[in-house]
Amino acid sequence: MSIDSLVALVRTIPDFPKPGIQFRDVTTLLADGAGFAELVERMAAIARPLDPDLFVGIEARGFILGAALSQALGKGFVPVRKAGKLPGRTVGIDYVLEYGTDRLELHEGQVPEGTRVILVDDLIATGGTAIAAAQLLREQGAAVLMALFAVDLPDLGGMAALEAEGVAAQAIIVFDGD
Ligand code: AMP
Repeated sequence: MSIDSLVALVRTIPDFPKPGIQFRDVTTLLADGAGFAELVERMAAIARPLDPDLFVGIEARGFILGAALSQALGKGFVPVRKAGKLPGRTVGIDYVLEYGTDRLELHEGQVPEGTRVILVDDLIATGGTAIAAAQLLREQGAAVLMALFAVDLPDLGGMAALEAEGVAAQAIIVFDGD
């Protein structure tokens, strides 16, 4: 499947969740069997040569792609969740949003020191979420090999911000001008 066909499967919903935001909805791509397989194959082709120990997916759509990649490469999957969702003992990181702060958590001990991980989410916008997740993983002593996304919105600068933090980043689909 061509990259243009893949891009066409992402639905754009204007003014969600607030006026002026173009929400890039990947659920339409995931609902298409050939499209989902193509996306995962393209992401797996980037991840495979790095031979990670684990994929770490960010709640919630990062779970879908992270789990698919883990299965494709025969690697483990670990979730990073919003505060208060994980049942076991957690380690976490607070990070600043446009308004207020948020917190990401990880089960203690699930990413042992020295683990080679690839961070996965559906989309990178400002990069705030992915940078916080990468910091949390590094605090555990993990090597964050890269951050991998289905969609990049380059105008919001997230990929560049991640790279400035020393985290290599790649995305399959790019929407310019958002
Ligand atoms: P950020 O921390 O700004 O990079 O935001 C990334 C997170 O917010 C990801 O988990 C995305 O799923 C979600 N997100 C932010 N902006 C959009 C958008 N325009 N369309 C879809 N999802 C978005």
